[in-house]
Amino acid sequence: MAAPADLVQEACDLLAALYPRLAAETPDPDCSAFAAPGVTARPPAAPVPGNAGAIYAKTGIDAAARDLEGVLLYSAGSRRPGPVRGGSDANTLAALEAIARLICKADDDLYRMVVAELEQRLDEAQKVPAIDEAERWRPVPQRPCPYCGCSALGVLLDAELQPSGRVECFGRTETGPCRAAWPGLIKLASDLDG
Ligand SMILES: [Zn+2]
Repeated sequence: MAAPADLVQEACDLLAALYPRLAAETPDPDCSAFAAPGVTARPPAAPVPGNAGAIYAKTGIDAAARDLEGVLLYSAGSRRPGPVRGGSDANTLAALEAIARLICKADDDLYRMVVAELEQRLDEAQKVPAIDEAERWRPVPQRPCPYCGCSALGVLLDAELQPSGRVECFGRTETGPCRAAWPGLIKLASDLDG
């Protein structure tokens, strides 16, 4: 039985692992087009380049991480406003880390709210087609990918959220996503405990 704080840590870790994958599907907005005089801005309903689902999921994580950090800081008795975080991806990851640190000070109601919010964001991210249809992956820490050498291996979790034996790489190589999967990684997966 996982301690409540571990559940939050796990959700934050998983979001932090999914976040760069969402970012990779999200092209930089073309600000120059909007700034040019006489050019009509693209209406919001028009198709955006890249993966609209990934953009939606990513901005949802951006907002939730900052909101939850602020609420947790307040509940932990901080009378000063929290760190002012800009909109960078690194700031979102820092906010996720802060949530995992601060959750131990939350009462039951706040804890449930934080878990529900994080799980909703995870669910959204995992439903992005480029991320894998609602498959649940957990990062494999401190094991480099034997093919591309990155530290972006993930293990697929089964319905009970236990490692399933399938390990894949979510790193990126010069030619695109690594997405390598090897039978040899099954041994690595079997070493992981739940
Ligand atoms: Zn790889």
